[in-house]
Amino acid sequence: MKRFAAFIKKLLFNERWKCNLCGKEIFSGYFCPECEKKINYNDKNICNRCGRKTAVPEEYCDSCKNIDFPADKVRSALCYDKTSSILIQNFKYNGKKYLAEIFSEFISNVYFKNFLSADFITFVPMSVKEKKNRGFNQSELLAIATAERIGLPVKDILLKTRETDRQAKLNREERLKNLRGAFKVTDKKEVSGKKVLLIDDVFTTGATSLTISGILKKAGADKVTVLTVASVPNIRENTQSDEQ
Ligand SMILES: [Zn+2]
Ligand SMILES: [Zn+2]
Repeated sequence: MKRFAAFIKKLLFNERWKCNLCGKEIFSGYFCPECEKKINYNDKNICNRCGRKTAVPEEYCDSCKNIDFPADKVRSALCYDKTSSILIQNFKYNGKKYLAEIFSEFISNVYFKNFLSADFITFVPMSVKEKKNRGFNQSELLAIATAERIGLPVKDILLKTRETDRQAKLNREERLKNLRGAFKVTDKKEVSGKKVLLIDDVFTTGATSLTISGILKKAGADKVTVLTVASVPNIRENTQSDEQ
């Protein structure tokens, strides 16, 4: 794990003097001033429960007030929009794994600003076939990079036990059905009585991270907090993003 972290840092060092969106030369930070303006940080009005951007601060927004919500809290660093989706696509599909370093900085800022606490970090697992196809699990990379910044251990305690259909074209009910029985906790002793921080890339309908939150709670977790890079705002519903 340490060696891998050093590896992504090295990649980051080589890439960091170019804007990560437009490629223009920069002298500090991750983006040029023009692109920085396009980054939509999710730090204004949000739903207190699911963390989505809302028009005014809300305890429960329309998208989470009538659903089963086993996580204690969900927070996301960015609003899912054109800019963040480009970054996330580059991270997942275009070989820019070093973006995990930038995302983990955003995620750990949210962790500290919200005074969150946890005993350990875990991540949304992939099936063996999915991981083989992509070559890596993006949530695992995010978890490793975030753990370094927060100073918590990463525990690999979840298993995806079967293949599921791609979620992008499915609505929330179809996604939940698709995921039923697909995940399990491998070591309940590690989870029992613990505060768990679950990391994922995007919170779209929430089907994946909430299904896993429910499984962690059933395994005895005291608290489950979900942190993601981006979430789809409740102002503009969009279930077409590429949540796994
Ligand atoms: Zn730029
Ligand atoms: Zn909500």
